[in-house]
Amino acid sequence: MKQSKVFIPTMKEEPAGAEARSHSLLLKGGLIKQSTSGIYSYLPLATKVLNNIEAIIREEMENIDAVEILMPALQQSELWEESGRWNAYGPELMRLKDRNGREFALGPTHEEVVTSLVRDELKSYKQLPLTLFQIQSKYRDEKRPRFGLLRGREFIMKDAYSFHADETSLDEAYQQMYDAYKRIFSRVGLNARPVVADSGAIGGSHTHEFMALSEIGEDTIVYSQQSDYAANIEKAEVVYSPNEKHDEIQSLTKVATPDVKTAQALADFLEKPLDETTKSMVFKVEGEFIMVLIRGHHEINDVKLKSYFETDNIEFATEDEIVNLLGAKPGSLGPVFDKDIKVYADNYIQDLNNIVVGANEDGYHLLNANVGRDFEVEAFGDFRFILEGEPLADGSGEAHFAEGIEVGQVFKLGKKYSESMNATILDNQGRAQSLLMGCYGIGVSRTLSAIVEQNSDENGIIWPKSVTPYDVHLITINPKKDDQRELADQLYAQIKESYQVLYDDRKERAGVKFNDADLIGLPIRIVVGKNASEGIVEVKRRDTGDSEDVHVDQLVNYI
Ligand code: ATP
Ligand code: MG
Repeated sequence: MKQSKVFIPTMKEEPAGAEARSHSLLLKGGLIKQSTSGIYSYLPLATKVLNNIEAIIREEMENIDAVEILMPALQQSELWEESGRWNAYGPELMRLKDRNGREFALGPTHEEVVTSLVRDELKSYKQLPLTLFQIQSKYRDEKRPRFGLLRGREFIMKDAYSFHADETSLDEAYQQMYDAYKRIFSRVGLNARPVVADSGAIGGSHTHEFMALSEIGEDTIVYSQQSDYAANIEKAEVVYSPNEKHDEIQSLTKVATPDVKTAQALADFLEKPLDETTKSMVFKVEGEFIMVLIRGHHEINDVKLKSYFETDNIEFATEDEIVNLLGAKPGSLGPVFDKDIKVYADNYIQDLNNIVVGANEDGYHLLNANVGRDFEVEAFGDFRFILEGEPLADGSGEAHFAEGIEVGQVFKLGKKYSESMNATILDNQGRAQSLLMGCYGIGVSRTLSAIVEQNSDENGIIWPKSVTPYDVHLITINPKKDDQRELADQLYAQIKESYQVLYDDRKERAGVKFNDADLIGLPIRIVVGKNASEGIVEVKRRDTGDSEDVHVDQLVNYI
């Protein structure tokens, strides 16, 4: 394609407001353009990359007998009422009404639609297993759309759904999809790894996320250097190995702790190490107040709380609620009270006795509080995030941390949707059974961005060969010179027989063309310049920067 015909609005300046490298490079390279917050147009180069990524996905899906369909993005509320998600999904669901006042959502995902699609058609175990997939725009009114395509409000997803008569069949499909995802991410040029993830309160039983390693990633991966253990930090289990620091029990003492609002401030004030202080937090679990106690140097993990209480309906109590309940503001809370509020404590609280806790009176704490004497603990459990260096649950050594971008997820849903939406089949005994389901997503537009995040240098993008918009960038230094223009025209006709060529025929200065070429990042650059009359051109690799003069007779071979 001649560059003068392609729409590539590159920018000379750094784009304002781009927080991620990929966001900035995609804007600067003229690959995407923001329409409004979290919503983008994909310009010609990005569209080509998307097509390439999608082609790889389609190949790998077909390879495991997944078949492509296309479901509606507009979804009637009735389906979501059936699954119970019309209320549960919350403000992320983009809702709208038709002219008759009937409610719809713009699909953020398609479990409801696909379940209603198959329940009417699948009758017998003989029709199973079945895996359907689609590639389509999804809509989520994200609280904080950011980093360009990494977290959009409209984004492209490949979503697949599998249907089974028994667990063995679901396990097989899950494993096949898992393996296909590994191949897909490696083929598109991403360094991504599968990590064990949390399946949510009422979700299925088993799930992995695929994480592209990147500093900008919003997820923390906990991994082992000795084994293949890798888990999302939300899920990474903390092993409790007691290390008790128990002194002689002392009497409960109230102390004034003016202006002390955090564990660190408390530690400083009392001249104690942070890990010998505690934090008390009040949560509302399905409307009921509970208190959770953890050590000062630990952080509460709400995902673990949700899985412990088997509900998604957990939130921090508001300050007003807390004041009403305990008569003090956060910062002075503790478990010593005469109220019907259950106290849950992190396992590591057990290492301490004579602990310091808030007195439930603003500006006061209690020293030497002890479980059993001063307060009761309903249960001890793993309620916090693991720390770097702590032992891993598989016994393979210490926890290492890395940041990752979630580019895909595979999920055993089980009967979650088939039961609520009444999707049954007859098993081999002729009995009605709820279908077993799996669901599997890839963020296609996020993957594009993650590829850029991992493949760039200070001058621009470095596209992996497998997804690059064009293979070769052909540039004339001075198209006004006949020998250069003629040779370039001839090479263009010749090379495009075997490769995708972007031919920079624009009447721009050579410096501008080179800058744009680096920015756009095609794997091979061919420069037709002063040696054109001898049939010699310069060939440069974008990744290594190595360049060589090559005679046109050898050129196609050389490429
Ligand atoms: P996240 O935790 O990042 O919000 P998610 O777990 O809610 O993502 P899924 O429901 O698992 O997302 O969707 C499947 C895939 O779609 C994700 O693995 C991710 O790659 C992609 N995705 C999800 N939300 C977005 C978004 N707002 N913008 C771009 N891609 C997204
Ligand atoms: Mg996910």
